[in-house]
Amino acid sequence: MLEHNLQEIKERLARASAKRGIAPEKITLVAVSKTVAAEQIQKACNLGITHFGENRVQDALPKIAALPLGPCWHFIGHLQTNKIKQVLDNFMLIQSLDRLKLARALQQEGEKQGRMIDVLLQVNVGGEESKFGFQIEEVEGALVAVTAYPNINVQGLMALAPFYDDPEEVRPYFRSLYRIFKEVNIPGVEMKILSMGMTNDFEVAVEEGSNMVRIGTALFGERA
Ligand SMILES: *Cc1c(COP(=O)(O)O)cnc(C)c1O
Repeated sequence: MLEHNLQEIKERLARASAKRGIAPEKITLVAVSKTVAAEQIQKACNLGITHFGENRVQDALPKIAALPLGPCWHFIGHLQTNKIKQVLDNFMLIQSLDRLKLARALQQEGEKQGRMIDVLLQVNVGGEESKFGFQIEEVEGALVAVTAYPNINVQGLMALAPFYDDPEEVRPYFRSLYRIFKEVNIPGVEMKILSMGMTNDFEVAVEEGSNMVRIGTALFGERA
């Protein structure tokens, strides 16, 4: 099941990257393992997946502990400031920097620990009320604001896109975000990662410039 799903995702990624004219290896697959048990995650590791995404600290920690020779963990949920330490101890990248208050709190902890913190700025590309993240128009200002924090290293952007049955409808949002990703020019910020695309829309996202997709359902099946 898992093997078959992964094979299919790889084929779809290969087709989408061919359409864009890039090598499929340029796209990082982050397997979103929220609600998935540690044994399943281990199986996915055995199939060669090396990046996993979790959105809730409490659910993630036991799984991370159960996979000691662990893969790279990405935090992709709304991060409360009282959980920062746990996230810094366990995750390689925080994809969900969704407000400046969180940046301030991360800076404080990074300074205290004397370490750099890698993040992506989370962008609510559809401007939906129900979602956290910066609006597209706020991205540049937010990036400038975060450069004031010496212990935070912005690696790029993460898109939260509206859900449509027809993924073609998301294309304009992905295109706008890619434009910002490419064109933004702020001293001290090097845009490397554009995390966009989920089960329903990852091919469109790759065609529009994504280099990291976050896929849960297509890999592990429907969540309970
Ligand atoms: C759940 C989740 C995903 C994966 O969603 P699927 O539709 O199951 O692929 C990706 N990104 C974030 C931020 C999520 O919360």
